Amino acid sequence: MGKILLELKNICKSFGDQEVLHDFNLYIMENEFVTLLGPSGCGKSTLLRMIGGFDSPTSGDIIFDGQLINSVEPNKRQINTVFQRYALFPHLNVYDNVAFGLKLKKLSKEEIDKEVLRALKLVQMSDYAYRKIDTLSGGQMQRVAMARAIVLKPRLLLLDEPLAALDRKLRQDLQYELKEMQRELGITFLYVTHDQEEALTMSDTIVVMNEGRILQIGSPVMIYNEPSTRFVANFIGESNIIDGVVPQDFKVRFENALFDTTYQGFSRGEEVDVVIRPEDLLIIPKDNAKITGVIDSKVFKGDLFEINVIVKSGKEYTIHTTKNYELGLEVGLDIDKENITLMKKPGLNTFTGVIEDDYFVRVNDEMRFECLEDDTEDFSEGSKVIVKVLTENVLLEGDVDDADFEGVIKNIKKRDMYYDVYINVGGVVIVASTSNPNHKVGQTVGIWVKPEKLVLLEEDNSLDTSTIEALND
Ligand code: ADP
Ligand code: MG
Repeated sequence: MGKILLELKNICKSFGDQEVLHDFNLYIMENEFVTLLGPSGCGKSTLLRMIGGFDSPTSGDIIFDGQLINSVEPNKRQINTVFQRYALFPHLNVYDNVAFGLKLKKLSKEEIDKEVLRALKLVQMSDYAYRKIDTLSGGQMQRVAMARAIVLKPRLLLLDEPLAALDRKLRQDLQYELKEMQRELGITFLYVTHDQEEALTMSDTIVVMNEGRILQIGSPVMIYNEPSTRFVANFIGESNIIDGVVPQDFKVRFENALFDTTYQGFSRGEEVDVVIRPEDLLIIPKDNAKITGVIDSKVFKGDLFEINVIVKSGKEYTIHTTKNYELGLEVGLDIDKENITLMKKPGLNTFTGVIEDDYFVRVNDEMRFECLEDDTEDFSEGSKVIVKVLTENVLLEGDVDDADFEGVIKNIKKRDMYYDVYINVGGVVIVASTSNPNHKVGQTVGIWVKPEKLVLLEEDNSLDTSTIEALND
């Protein structure tokens, strides 16, 4: 890795007056296994067709190895595609299907023979070289299609749902083999699927898409554990998403109960989305449980039961368990703190600060906002306040000297039409929403907020942890 192989810049694609890809930006590193994951119709195949050269963007640039390739013929690109439907020549046998592209390249017979046999070996089809295509199973045909693509030694292999037509067991075997093959060949893979399990198993990087836009880019672990939006969380796994409030570091409050978490850096009183996966909810006896409810429905899913529990608040929780519980049973729910994920609610920063004088409110040693005198006059110097500022009003400045304060970017999440940039300022995270795609993790940026965009509120005593803990007792 280390070198960018493919770069998509501001790609838009319309069919008639329907825009199906909106300002799509992505880069892929050499040797990376990148998966585009998204529901049917979100534009995955359209994107692959443009990269392969079978269609062209309405606007935007496709850059391959530093060269603009928008109008380069498909066969002149060092890119091959494996389609969902095998697209093999039915009148040729396996060997001749794989050899086809090499013959066009006018390679010698010996070279062709060597390459074809090597490719067939890689896809474990050596014994089938002289079989007719119509005698093969679906899985075997797909292996031949892959051999035909890799034999040409493309630098980038595009795979459009190549396993979708196969049954589950075969799909799992081939997933594993594909990943091995990618490692062995050192070819960059851009893989398309609507199957999250497939994406999670094989990829170095997953790009979650919906309706022609990127929602999140990250490693499988990051996407699974820190989905940036409800859509991603729901699409990646059937998560439970609950509204919560963070009273202090390492705590979250939901369903009228206080839970330990592994999170710090949220503001006191900050509203969050709490994400809990069905397999992480534990059913315990209802006595002494923080959350109780009634088993409302259950479905046997082959290797586990999916149970719905309706709790006091009326919310329904989905739980996966290997134990068979009776319908109507009253149960308690518990979660280990490692399995509670907190997500910032998009759009708003909340901090606790201290009024310094008429013109400043301080959050910590480094984070200090300028405010309007009109806003501070209700507070005495030294009083504690809650500071709220919309993420869209947090402005970033490359030139640190011009800013109110500075911080280091620790994470960037793609939202619908913009990026949420998470910046660490002396241990407190501030989020800035920006349409600028050029920020990088690790970069130091200047931050400023127009004084009139700050909202100062009296600190709400009801959020004191002591009060909450008392409520829980
Ligand atoms: P995916 O592969 O993610 O299922 P597609 O890229 O095939 O999605 O399609 C994205 C959208 O573009 C869909 O709404 C589809 O109907 C539309 N579309 C794709 N190809 C064409 C075409 N040739 N003409 C008109 N609309 C198209
Ligand atoms: Mg498709």
